[in-house]
Amino acid sequence: MKRITKDNVIYSMNPGNTPALYIEPGETILFETWDALHGQVSDAEKSISGLNWERVNPATGPVYINNALPGDILSVKIEKIDVEETGVTLCGPGMGVMGKTLNEVTTKIMTIKDDLAYYNEKIQLPLNKMIGVIGVAPKEGDISNGVPDLHGGNMDCKEVTEGATILLPVNVPGALLALGDLHAIMADGEISVTGLEVGGEVTATIDVIKKDNLPLPMIENENHIMTLASDEDLDIAVEMAASKLMFNRITRQMKGLF
Ligand code: CA
Ligand code: CA
Repeated sequence: MKRITKDNVIYSMNPGNTPALYIEPGETILFETWDALHGQVSDAEKSISGLNWERVNPATGPVYINNALPGDILSVKIEKIDVEETGVTLCGPGMGVMGKTLNEVTTKIMTIKDDLAYYNEKIQLPLNKMIGVIGVAPKEGDISNGVPDLHGGNMDCKEVTEGATILLPVNVPGALLALGDLHAIMADGEISVTGLEVGGEVTATIDVIKKDNLPLPMIENENHIMTLASDEDLDIAVEMAASKLMFNRITRQMKGLF
């Protein structure tokens, strides 16, 4: 199995990124990933003020998939997510929904063992390992890995997890797939800016569905078919997700539902 090391990272998705690995459709490969802070916060005492925000949300890649062409769909089956033994979560003034309750940036390091994260001796939290950033190059422009859009990106959806297949539009030859920002734990979004950020390894099988259109990123798992829409206005995102799901040819073809 081919392995793409975490020496190969990008901080934004664009058509000009140089491929780090070339594969054929149908191959299963392993991505090594940094945590979303690029390993900069290794202990709770370390000052967050020294954090280089240019180095957040590194995504491993990009991977060039031969024969993936604009107008096709990239299919990424998440086979396995392995996380490292230490995760970090942080929040601070002005960050997310809860930031206004804090006077200074607060970090929390947690040890991860046996599918549990140890908040302290008394509180252990069950893991729900998932991928925060997964996307392909947009047709044009340069989109920071901190942003979700039609190309995927920082979608922070907990359904992007083991066993799920993520469908993304191919906008440029080779698609240029990259992923990172693993979370050992996350609820419904990063409402306080982070989940339990962790480095790790992702094993995925990548394939190409020829000449079909995909208006939005989608997820298929054992029980559901989902669309993912992003907009600064939540109501607009909801409408996009619902309407594009109803009129999507992929949806109709999947599982013979329609
Ligand atoms: Ca994220
Ligand atoms: Ca994150």
